[in-house]
This record gives sequence, structure tokens and C-alpha cells, in this order.
Amino acid sequence: MNLNEFIAIDIESTGLDPDKDEIIEIAMVHFKDSQVQKTFSSLIKPQQEVRPFILKLTGINNEELASAPDFKAISEELINFMGTLPMVAHNAIFDSRFLKTALKKVDAPYKMPIFYDSLLLSRIAWPLMPNHRLETLITELKLVREQSHRALPDAQACGEMFLLALEKCQKFSDLSKYHLAQLSKNSPWENIFGKFTDIPSETTITACPSTADAPNDEKPDIPVRIRDWFGAERLLAKNFANYTNSNPQNDYAGIVERNMFRGGTAVLESNPGINTAQAFLVPALLKVVQSQGRLVISTGSKASLDNLATQLAALLPLFGAHIKVATIKKRNHYLCLRKFNEHLQNHELLLTSDEKLQIMPLIPWIEFTQTGDASENNGFNLNRNWQLWYKLQSDAASCVANDCEFAEQCFALKARKKAEAANVLITQHQLFIENLDADLALLPRYEHSIFCDAHTLPQLSHGILGKNIRFFDLRNQVKILAHTREMEKGLLAVLEQKVAESNRAEVQEKCQSIRKLISECEKQLHRFFIRIGKSVKKQGSKPNLRYSYSIQAEYEADNKNLLEGLISFEKQTQELIDSLQENPEIKFLVKNVAGILSECEKFRKDLEFVCVGSKEDWVYWLEEPGNPHTLVMQAQPLSIHNLWLNKHYKWVQSTLFTSNTLSLENNFDYFTWRMGLKSRNLPKNKTPFVRKVANPWNVEEMRKVVVADFLPNPSDKNFQKEMDALLTEILNPSNLNTLALYTSQYSLLQSHEALEEIFAEQQKLLLSQSTDGTLNNLLDLFRKEKGACLLASQSYAEHIFQQEIAVDLLVLSKLPFPSPGDALVQAQGEAIKERNGNPFRDVFMPTALNEMRLAMDNMLKFSQDKGIVLILDKRVVTEKYGRSFCSLWDNKHIVVKSLADLQKILLQ
Ligand code: SF4
Repeated sequence: MNLNEFIAIDIESTGLDPDKDEIIEIAMVHFKDSQVQKTFSSLIKPQQEVRPFILKLTGINNEELASAPDFKAISEELINFMGTLPMVAHNAIFDSRFLKTALKKVDAPYKMPIFYDSLLLSRIAWPLMPNHRLETLITELKLVREQSHRALPDAQACGEMFLLALEKCQKFSDLSKYHLAQLSKNSPWENIFGKFTDIPSETTITACPSTADAPNDEKPDIPVRIRDWFGAERLLAKNFANYTNSNPQNDYAGIVERNMFRGGTAVLESNPGINTAQAFLVPALLKVVQSQGRLVISTGSKASLDNLATQLAALLPLFGAHIKVATIKKRNHYLCLRKFNEHLQNHELLLTSDEKLQIMPLIPWIEFTQTGDASENNGFNLNRNWQLWYKLQSDAASCVANDCEFAEQCFALKARKKAEAANVLITQHQLFIENLDADLALLPRYEHSIFCDAHTLPQLSHGILGKNIRFFDLRNQVKILAHTREMEKGLLAVLEQKVAESNRAEVQEKCQSIRKLISECEKQLHRFFIRIGKSVKKQGSKPNLRYSYSIQAEYEADNKNLLEGLISFEKQTQELIDSLQENPEIKFLVKNVAGILSECEKFRKDLEFVCVGSKEDWVYWLEEPGNPHTLVMQAQPLSIHNLWLNKHYKWVQSTLFTSNTLSLENNFDYFTWRMGLKSRNLPKNKTPFVRKVANPWNVEEMRKVVVADFLPNPSDKNFQKEMDALLTEILNPSNLNTLALYTSQYSLLQSHEALEEIFAEQQKLLLSQSTDGTLNNLLDLFRKEKGACLLASQSYAEHIFQQEIAVDLLVLSKLPFPSPGDALVQAQGEAIKERNGNPFRDVFMPTALNEMRLAMDNMLKFSQDKGIVLILDKRVVTEKYGRSFCSLWDNKHIVVKSLADLQKILLQ
């Protein structure tokens, strides 16, 4: 497995589109026998302006570019340097497209060589790397590089990393190497993996043996009351150097203890000054130790789950063997070993050419993973490879359980067993709510429950109870049966091939008929969505695309042909399954077909439901109707009360809802109403105890709130212009790291345009969520650069702050009232109006207050944090309802009447 001679290449460009953007720097490093032979590097003068963001990122300046040669001038030297050697690049598609387009534009005679993507090889070699960006790989592999984001050092690092990855692959087992060789056939990778030709005696991949948990029979002698744990000189102080004794934390832990021991519901608002996880974990674990009951802890985000895991790991040694923890994920997170092997053995028929490469990072990983959880493998990115994962995931509909030759090692079954043996279950809200919706079939029974980030539960519950229909939901399922472009491939093709000679003709006929129906259903679905799109266009612009009768009545889209096609497809597929399931050779493959059929049936039923659109207590709407491939038909219930009442409160002993953002204006009505805790059907003993725990920090000293009262009202046509002028004035001289949040994309783009020039002149970094790449990448840059400014959507505020970024200045452009396009909130408002309520007071205001709190409160994460919140919407001090917003910061704000006054405050 090696490549003796290659050229590593890296390109810096003005953007991402090779047709519109241009190369501004190119570098190549010639490697032979793992040694650098020679290098080539040149800046290239572009014909277009280079965005300041790119100049800042690369450190290249306009003067250097102005004096550089253009691409044509260097093309001959470039071609000579490359010769016919294979090329290696990180994310090779980017570099190869740019190079090809640039050479074509100057009519240079050059045949593009083979490009190897070092990104794919690193994913295969190191599946557990935090990520596979070149920056990360350089750090983790301790490679030396003089400068980042410059072509020559990046090209050299890419080549060195590629060689290390080859070395790593060389150490894989014979079994892994054999499968990599098989999958790489007829692709450029055959030159690398294909060199391994030994056939191992056994080609089935099995899971590695489980490492048993260390036995721990120690009976810890621990105090059972929390007063012996919290406080100076008590157990936590003695065991944790960073423990801080604070009355609010002790108070919080006391409430959790009472709630768990007596049973009931508590709604507890915490704050960043309290170590909430420690404060609920100690009483909760003590209850578990004493009662033998089971506790489920659910979190709303990955960050919160990680924090919980860290706190729990630190506390567990004090509880010894009494506590057994299991983290529960949805079953489809786990790899099904049976399907995985089937796909490797039949890769020619079951995998597309892309999928043969995508599956590679899973192969060596199986040799050591203890979990089989795809999210553990960063080389195989679930979000990127979901279509392939559909084929490999474990799911109840296609599982053959005890009949399965892998049952003993099955990752999903092992996870289930571990959960059943545990008395503390950790999960995420998504799965918890799905468990309620699935009549509690997904999690083992539990008696106690704790919900961190509880403020996210209502919205998530609406989403999970809801239904949505997309073109690709059906298409991706049926594609597994018969590939869209190559209908002779897919599960049906394998069935045809493997079925006994005697009934092959009959099966082939049936499969052919199913293929035709699949093709017809796809066409009908496409037509149906196109019809909706046309009708939407004809009806003109509307604030939202809700419908309340039926899709046919309101958007003239008839689903009759589509439904008939789906029913025929289901009937024929069921007949095929019935005729083959006794066949021992293929009975497992038939089970896979049954799994797909069950998903297709669900799709049809949901489609029927959302098309009728007439349930009064649901809201129905369309998203992105312009494009049939991205159009979504959505339906959500207006209330989630019954779900929580009937499936949770009624039988669970204790529930704790906790978050930093649960109350508004010091009352919890909005949260308790949304969660059904105000319902008259709520069992009496579950009436919530609500409490806002005091904050040990002096928030007023840490965060200054400033309202610019001199800007026009946001509804004024000059607001945007004047807001942009103000931002230009205050951000120009400042060195503050600024996060500006917007309620509309249009407004964000306008500000970006207004600020771009001034930031470029000052050589400062201006980042915009809509134009400069993924939010995570932008946050990385924002963190590193003093004086950077990030423009982002208000709705992303919480997500941004979860990443622990320090913000000196938080600018809120407008009060975050729900937009007219927010169908659920608008429908809830109408329902309240019908009951003679006040939608503004009961829905719109609380929604806006909640959004505002999420942005402002998340700004302070640590006791040393400091910052200014600048509110540019004067309604907060001029309108009566503004008082409610002011109560979020106890009316402790400064009103500024002029730009000069504002500048003075910012300079302090
Ligand atoms: S037991 Fe079920 S999920 Fe597990 S490997 Fe076998 S078929 Fe797949």
C-alpha cells in the first residue's frame, strides 16, 4: 500500500465556485520515496476584487497580488512541474476543479491526472480524529507547518499527512485490507488498496469482543442526606478542588432532593453561576441508591450531554457499584453487522461507486469499536453519508434478532441490554419525546426524570409529534430497492440473483413490475410537488403558506395518482416478500425489503394526513414550495399537552425541569402552560413547584445593557440605513469582539454590505453567517481574531453561545417577535383569540421575551465574563410592552440619546 511518487497540491482562491472564482495562490510539492524532491509556489493575480475575508484568512495582501503573474503566465511551468504524476490534495474535488477550470480558461494543453483525496484516506486511517480538517490533522499528528492557509505549507503538510495515513493503513488487519481492496476495484484507489491481494480464510467482519466493565463490589459508605455533601468542609468540598460552596447551589440541591424523595414536579430555573449538574446529580443519585428506582436524565444539546457526562464521571467513584449508567441513543445510530456484511459481500449490486468509498472508514473501525455507534466514527460522517447509512443501520423492522448470526455481538442489542441493567439512563430530548410518542417502547421503564435545557422541550415536542413530507423521504427508501439511475442494481437485483433457479423467472417478473411502480411513484411525487409550486406562484406572495382545508382544495394538487401508485407498489412488494420469506438462502435480504416497505407505508399514511389538512387542532403549512426537491409539507399539533399528560406526568414519580431560561417576568406560566402543567387533567400530586434560584454572580457588574434611543423605530424606512451607519461608527475604531444578531436575513445582508469596506480598510475580520461558510468554521475564526465581528441570525444565538465564545459586545438589532411566517406561533395565536384570549400577550410577547433571554443570558458563561448588550430597537423603552423586556434585566439599563454618548460607553 504505497504511492512512491506524487505531487501534493494546494490552492487558495477568491471563493468556492471554480467557474466564478479564481486561484490567487497555487503550490505543489513533489514527493518521491517519502522525501520532498522540489517545490513550486506562486501567487496569481486575479481579475476580480478579492474579498477582505479571504485576504484576512490567507494573510495575502492586495499589493502582493497586484504584482503577481496571471495564471496564463505560469501555466507552462506548472504543467512541466506536474508532468504525469498522480496528485494528492485535501478535499481534492476543490483543487482539481479549480485547476482544471483555470487550465481550460487559458487553453493550456494538459490531461488531468488522477487525484487522490487525502481527506478520504485520513478518514479511513483515523476514524476517531475529532475531525478531518487539515488544521486538526496537523495538530493531532504533530506535523510542522510554518503558516496556515498558505498554499506551500498546506501542500507539504497534506503530502506528509497522506504518507502517514498510508503507513497507518498498512497496519490494518488482513481482513480490513481485503475489503478495502475489493471496494476499490475499478477506481483510482485500486492503485493503492488493490496491491493487497491475499484472501483471508474468513471474509465476514465481526465485532471485537466487549471489554468487560471492571467489577466493583465495593459498598461505599456514603452519607445519604445532601446536607452532608454540599457546604464548606463537606463531601464535595473534600473531593473536588474546584467546588464552590454557594447558598443558591445548596438551595437548588435541596429542592431536587425534596422533589425526588417526595415525588412530584419541580420547575427550577438555574443560572450559569451554579454548577447545576452537580446540584441535581448528587440528590438524584442518592435517591437511586436508596430506592433501586431508575432515573432518566435528558439533555437538549450535545454540549450539555458532554458536560453531564464529565460531571457524572467525576461523581461516580463516590457512589461505587451502586450506580450503573447507560447512554441511550436511537436504534438507528448503531451499525447492523448483518446488513454491513451483506453490503460488503454484494457491493457490486448494493453500493454505488461513491458509496464504495464512503463505506471504507467503517471497515477498520469495526475492528475496535465497542459501541458500533456511527456518531463515534468521525471518518464516517452521518450527516454526509445518511443515504448509505439508511442501508446499514439497525432498525426493528428489518432485524431478525435471534435468527441473526450476529445476535451475540449485535451493537444495538448490547446497548439495549446495557440500558436494561442500568439505573441511570442518559439520553437526549429527541429520543425521550419519541419514546413518549411510541407509547414508551424505546426506553426501559423509569421512575424519575430530569430534563436539562428544559426550555427546548416544547418546540421539540411539537416537531416530533408533527409530520413532514419531502420528495427525498420516499426516494431514498425506494432507491435502496432499485438505484434510481441504475435500476438493475439494488436489493431487488440481489434477490433476483440469489433466488433459486426454479423460481427466478417469476421473481424477476415481480421485481421488474416493482421497479416500474417505483419509477412511476417518483414521477407522480415530482408532478404533485411541481403542481403545488405552480399554484403557490399563481397565488402570489403571502406571509406564510398555511392551508387549513386540503392541499387539493387550496393548491390544486391532486394526490390521487400518487396514492394509487404507492398502494400498488406496497401490494406488489408485499407479495414478493410473502413469496420469498420461507427461502432460507435469502430470508434475511427479504427482511431488509420488509423494513423498506414499512417506511414507505409510513410515508404514504403521513402524506395522506398532511394532504387532508383539516384537523382543527393542527397547523399545516408549506416550506420552500419553489423547488419540488426541497419542498416540505409540514403538520404539527397546536398542543402537546396530552402527550406529556398521558404518557409522562401520570405515572412517573418525579420530574425535574431545569434550565437557565424558564421564567419570564419572574413567572413560569408560559413554560408550564406549554408543557401541559396547567391542565386541569394534571394529577394533583404533579402540580409543579416552581422556583428561580438566586444567582451568586453580580450580573449587573458583569453585563451592561444599553438602549440606543436615537435610532428611528424599526418600522421606519430609514431604520436599516441608520442602524448600519451607527454600526460603522462604533465598530470602526473598536477592538471589541462583536456578535450582531438579526431577525431577518435581508437585514443581515444589508449590514454586511455596509460594513464590509470599513472592516477591510481596518484589516479587521467581518464574518457573516449567510456568506462566509458554516457557522462552526466562522466561530473558530471569530474566537481567534481580536476585534472580529460576526453577523448571525437571532435564532442561532443559543447555538452560538453553546460553543463558549467570548463576546464583548452583543448587538440586538430588533426585538425578536415571531415572524408572520412562523406558522405554529401564528396558529396558536389564532386559537387563543378564538377563546377570547389575547394572542399578543399570551403567545407573541412570551415568544419574543424567551428569544431575548436566550441571547442575553447565554452571553455570561463564567464568573470573569464581561460584556455590553446594545439594543438598537428603541421600542424597548418607548412602548408599553417594552417594560416586559426591561424586566429581563431588572430595568437596569442605560438609555443613550446620541452616538457620542454611546461611543463614550463603549470606550469605557
Ligand atoms: S440482531 Fe438485528 S440489528 Fe443486530 S446485527 Fe442482527 S439483524 Fe442487525
